[in-house]
Amino acid sequence: MRRDTLTVRARYVVPVEGAPIEDGCLTIQGPRIGWLGPASERQHDLDLGNVAILPGFVNAHTHLELSPLDGGPDGPGSWPEDELGWLRRVIAQRRSSSDESLREAAEKNLAAAIRSGTTLVADSTTAGMSWPAIASAPIRAVVFAEVIGLKRERGLQTDAAAWEWLASVRPENQIAGCARVGLSPHAPYSTAGWLYHKAVASGLPLSTHLAEMPEELRLLAHHDGPMRRFLEDIGAWDDEWEPIGPRPADYIRRGELRNADWLIAHGTYLDPDDFWQLRPQAAPDGKRVAVAFCPRTSARFGHDRHPYRSLLERGAIVCLGTDSLASSATLGLLDEMRFLHARDESLSGELLLTMATLFGAWALRADTSTGSLRPGKSADLAIVALPDRDAADPHGLLLESDQPVVGTVFEGDFVSGRWNGTA
Ligand SMILES: [Zn+2]
Repeated sequence: MRRDTLTVRARYVVPVEGAPIEDGCLTIQGPRIGWLGPASERQHDLDLGNVAILPGFVNAHTHLELSPLDGGPDGPGSWPEDELGWLRRVIAQRRSSSDESLREAAEKNLAAAIRSGTTLVADSTTAGMSWPAIASAPIRAVVFAEVIGLKRERGLQTDAAAWEWLASVRPENQIAGCARVGLSPHAPYSTAGWLYHKAVASGLPLSTHLAEMPEELRLLAHHDGPMRRFLEDIGAWDDEWEPIGPRPADYIRRGELRNADWLIAHGTYLDPDDFWQLRPQAAPDGKRVAVAFCPRTSARFGHDRHPYRSLLERGAIVCLGTDSLASSATLGLLDEMRFLHARDESLSGELLLTMATLFGAWALRADTSTGSLRPGKSADLAIVALPDRDAADPHGLLLESDQPVVGTVFEGDFVSGRWNGTA
């Protein structure tokens, strides 16, 4: 039974918009946040103890249908891995997987993502494969159907499959309007230009892998190199292929391609000259463009120099994603934050948490309903256990710790963790 109002107390309530509240309370009123403030100002119904209440995490880039890869250099000691060799293994896994097993993987991985405190996810999927799991789960989502193919025949095939799924998704299949649909032209190196133009014409939110590796830059600029040999090898190369432009950013910034919301996966090798173009203010008609940085995946492939700091300094929105279990050990945003914090302590805990919550919500046009703790917003929460010590900055308690996520709340309901069923 859902209670109309439930006030929970915690060691910290971290609103993201506003300073952390030590010994704080948060009132859940139906599906929304009713109030938050110091515990001294309100009687609580439930004391959660030594935890932090945060906005639910936003995973801005993943592929729920993918599973960990068999074989190959998966041990941390053997990283970084050659990215083309990895792609080859991902393709082999996909080709050998039945639709049923992809759907099952999506369902299992989604449950793990929810347990890790995720309440909004951007999922790229083959022809809506993850949709049944997502549409019936307690989570907000944008599901991007992938279109891929340099060869016309392959492009037509994936485009038709994506649109068949889009046509099958009707409002009555959506749970409380929490899941939205989008399209994902896979990447400049794998996807013909006409598929990008067609995706933009749809008016749907879009996502694409962009400027992911040096081999992609070389292919676009010179039509040769290891990426071309790789594509020839797997039978995906098309002799007639012409890129939209010589630089990855051409795929989202050239002409009418600007007229869409673009969520860029990775963006590791974007040209610094393009960074100013990626500011929200530079987008036409309020369109939104953001970069989803996946720290552990990026490190796995030896990409040490993701330009997240330069992008942020120029006012671009950088959010965080996990990418899939094929490149990352978990689908937990807290794991990504801790990993990045350990590598770059100069990035403030406050900004890092904003990247994992409010910035992702903004990129997915969900920032008016989620992404921070504010009265009136949806009660989408991640509850994280804290270590038994003091710290000047509570973000340090979250980031320099291995304490787990102990609860997830979605629209006012405890959907995972030790208080499941409380509300
Ligand atoms: Zn990806």
